[in-house]
Parts: sequence; C-alpha cells; structure tokens
Amino acid sequence: MPIRVLDPKVVSRIAAGEVVERPASVVKELVENSLDADSSQISVETRGGGLSLIRVTDNGVGIPAEEVELAFNRYATSKISDFEDLGSISSLGFRGEALPSIAAVAQVDIATCAAGESIGSYLAVEDGVTVNRESQGRSQGTTVTVRNLFRRVPARLKFLKSLATENSHIANVVSQYALAFPEVKFALFIDGRVALRTPGSGRLIDSVTQVYGLEVAQKMLEVGDREEEWQSGAPISTPRVTGMIGSPSVSRSGRGYLSFFVNRRWISSRLLAWAVEEAYHGLLMAGKHPIALINISLPAGEVDINIHPTKAEVKFRNEHLVFGAVQKAVRQALIELAPVPKIEEVATTYVSPSASKQISWTLPESGDSPATSPPVAPQTPAVSLPVLRVVGQLSGSYIIAEGPDGLYLIDQHAAHERILFEKIKYQRSPSGIEVQGLLEPVTFEVNPKQGEVLKLHYEDLGEFGFSIEPFGDRTYLVRAVPALLHDKDWAGMLRELLDAVSGEDRGDWVESLAMSIACHGAVRAGQALTSDEMRELIRQLEQVTVPQTCPHGRPTMIRLSSEQLKREFGRT
Ligand code: ADP
Ligand code: MG
Repeated sequence: MPIRVLDPKVVSRIAAGEVVERPASVVKELVENSLDADSSQISVETRGGGLSLIRVTDNGVGIPAEEVELAFNRYATSKISDFEDLGSISSLGFRGEALPSIAAVAQVDIATCAAGESIGSYLAVEDGVTVNRESQGRSQGTTVTVRNLFRRVPARLKFLKSLATENSHIANVVSQYALAFPEVKFALFIDGRVALRTPGSGRLIDSVTQVYGLEVAQKMLEVGDREEEWQSGAPISTPRVTGMIGSPSVSRSGRGYLSFFVNRRWISSRLLAWAVEEAYHGLLMAGKHPIALINISLPAGEVDINIHPTKAEVKFRNEHLVFGAVQKAVRQALIELAPVPKIEEVATTYVSPSASKQISWTLPESGDSPATSPPVAPQTPAVSLPVLRVVGQLSGSYIIAEGPDGLYLIDQHAAHERILFEKIKYQRSPSGIEVQGLLEPVTFEVNPKQGEVLKLHYEDLGEFGFSIEPFGDRTYLVRAVPALLHDKDWAGMLRELLDAVSGEDRGDWVESLAMSIACHGAVRAGQALTSDEMRELIRQLEQVTVPQTCPHGRPTMIRLSSEQLKREFGRT
C-alpha cells in the first residue's frame, strides 16, 4: 500500500482512542468538565454499562451560546491560552480534547446555559458533525448526553468487559471524585438505581461514609490538616498533605483503596502508594493494604500534569520531597492513634505455601556422601495418599507424618483448605453446608463497586450457607452464615471477594466463593492441633480428589522418600 494521509474521520477516531478507552473514561472527562465549571451539584446517569447512555448534568457556569460549537473542536479550550499557562494549570482539563474525542466515537448532545444568559442552547453532534442546533430553555449549567458509545468502533467494543465490569469502573470514577470534592453534591444512577449520593457538605468524612460505608468511616483517622502549622515557616514548595487513612484494623487485600489527589486531580502513583505502605510498615499483616485518601497540594510549577494521555499520572519536580511528606503525614496520624496496635506477624499471618517452600531440610552432610549429592527436592505424591501415621506438629503449622514410602510434611492450612474446598464445592446444597443463624441480623455495607457485583450474585450466596438479602441501596441484611465462618471475619472475606472478582462469569464467582470460604474457614498456620485433630485432618485429606495442592494450586505437602533419607545419611 502506498503512503496516504488518513481521512480526518479516521484520524479523529484514532486520536479519540487515547482519551476514551472505556465508558468510565467518558464519565471521568465529563465530571472533570463539570468540576472545572465550578459546579456544586453533579449528577451522573448511565445505562447499559455506559454504552447506551451516559448523561452528566451540572449547575456550573455553563457555556455561552456562541461558544458551544467551538467546544467540540479539537484543541478548543477555555482553560489555557498559551504554552506558559501549562505551567500553572489549576483546572482539571486543559487540552480541549475530551468533547471532540467523545463526539468522534458516539452521538453527543449538549444543553447548556451560561451565567447571565436568558435562554440556553442545544447542540447535537454525530460522528463529529453538528446535526442539530437550537435555543432551549434551561437553568444555568450544562447537561452532556452521550449515546451509543463505540457503536462505530467495533474493535473497541470487542475489548470491553461485561456491563457489570464497566459499571464498576464507572462507580469507581464517580466515587473517587466524590472523595476529592466533598463540597460537591454527587449523585450516580446506574440503570435507574441510586449507586452513590454524597451530601456535598464539604466534610471528607461524609463522602467517605457514602463511598466506603459507615463501618469504615468510623475507623478513619485524619491526616495533616494543620493549616497554620503548614503555613508557618515551610518553604513554598513543600507539599501540603491532608486526607484520611484507615486505622490498621480496616486493612484490605488489594491496593484499590489507595486514592491520591494532586491539586485535586485524581491520579495513580506507585510512588505515593509506596510512601503510604511504608508508613504502615509493621502495622498490617502480610498481604494486607491500607485504606487511604491523600490530598497533596503543591504549587503548580512543582508538578507536571501533562505527561499522560488521560492525565492519570503526574510527574513531581521533587519526588523525594513529596514521598517524604506523604509518608511523614501518614505515619504521624498512625502514631497519634495510641496505642499503636502491633500485629504479631508470625502468630496470625497465613503462611503462604511459597514461604513454606523455603523451609529447608537442613540435613547434615555426612562425610562420605559425595559433595555433589543432589539437593533434596520437595516431591509431591503422584496420586492419592497412602495411609499416614501422625508423628507430630512442626512450628505449629506443619504436620509431620510417616507413610510406607517416606516422611511427609503437610501444610495444615493448605491441606484443610483443600478438604473444605472440595466439600463446599461438591456438597453445595441447603443440606450439604452447615449453616449458623446469627442471633441478630447483621447489616453488611458495600461500596458502589462492590455493590455492582453483589447485586448480581447475592442469591448464589444462599447455596453456600449465607442468608443475605438487600436492605436499602448499598446495604444488605445477613441472617445466617456458613457455620465454618461464624466466628471468623466473614464480612471481611465477602468484601475481599467482591473487590477481587469482576462478577461477569457466574462460574468464576462460585469457584472464588468456594475458595474464599475454604481459605477463611481452614485452620490457620500457627494453630496448635491435638493428635486427634491431626489424624482427622489427614483422614479427610486421604479422601479428597486432589490432596497434593490447595485450591490455589500450591502444594499441601512435601515428601522425603525413604531412598532420599538413606542417601542423605550415607547408607546404601
Ligand atoms: P478541556 O476540558 O480540556 O478544556 P473539553 O473538550 O473537555 O476540553 O471541553 C472543551 C471546553 O468546553 C472547555 O474548555 C469548557 O470551556 C467547555 N465545557 C465543557 N464542559 C463544560 C461544562 N460542563 N460546563 C461548562 N463548560 C464546559
Ligand atoms: Mg475537559
């Protein structure tokens, strides 16, 4: 093919791809525009995962009638006028790309009325071309409606996940901006349901309560916000850090609860995530992550926001300074929470089998065995287990047992997890799983993202011994739980699970649920077992179909064969 200049329509669709990756990107751009317009109320409505409809309505400054069409031109912006302005941007938008990009891949219309205008304007754009324009009465503010997103970009449609996943991304974007702008009243409606509402009170804690629920909100600690202290004497380039963090007792199993806002822009930053996690060092169990909302304010010249197509990342002029300020502020808040709960990692942490692999058999190298004798490789039995005799427990975590073909070291947690997993998976029925009714129903709150998944699947939980029913927008009522979990943190387990799965595939969800219940119900590492308990565990392990690995595929045991023992001790 000879070189040809692409048709402008093709060019604009390609360029749009940088900004509009998925429905949630449209929501982000439109909400940012509403925030830049000084709105105090922003309402977001979506249907069909945002593909059928996205509508963002605000009460901001609006667009003057003569500028409405211009807003859809590429690189048309009211926010900067020359290159120098890039160094001092205080708005969220500045490239003038969002509206034209969205219009290149969807049908867009806008109804807007600027302050001081008596009548508003309406404009409809399709495929980047204006198809309708008229005057229309409305109160001050702007409504942008986006329909049939990506309908003409089949390649992009193909890469989207299920509607549930897209909804959860949308819920996340709106949640993040609700956290960044507590003074703005947000409402999010997904397919006609209220997914989030914030009061716009200006208090961060009120937004946190709406997004993460009351339970989390009650355990949040304030970070920084001693304005006087910060102002006095600090050099002007010193970042000011404010926000809220979760006390160590509300940790989460993923990093999805770390939110960073730089000059009120929601960004992702591994550097800052690291700074926060460093501050929690020693306070959380292994594999757990904190909840944190961190606002960083610093002079515009100290940060470059123009390094990423969707403005999702920024570059700090002095990374060390920002890292240190965040870490210090978070640490300070944690220290003030007296007494700092120290978690004994060994006693309560689930020792992952990868760690168990590091336990080495330190067999003495006998004099006459050749120095090159092969290292003792952990072996797993090929098929089902032979009859084993329990010898004892090691480190409170491993069962030592003897079989006809050698010595077995069994990870008690992993083994029990496998036993429970098979029981739960194969016997799932009202009679198969023992249920424990709760003395009083317990309310279970979910954040908007978790809510999207739970809505689809809460009925399945019944098969696993949970009795759970919707109770208001983002609250469920739990009346019974699997007996296995009744004295465990089943609410934490459910939240972890809802965070981890996207919910599109019911099979995946059911499998993950069985795994989670098994993992949380199983004996822990570090838990002393009686000989009878160990014997019973091994008897049950002999009966499962795949005794060698836990449901996650990690080994439950290693075996040292009689031959290896002889070799190691130099006998023939
Ligand atoms: P940018 O935000 O980078 O300036 P956009 O394409 O998102 O670019 O928007 C173009 C222009 O349209 C903005 O600069 C602003 O003047 C105007 N605009 C868009 N949305 C709104 C809104 N909700 N309220 C007021 N003005 C808006
Ligand atoms: Mg914009």
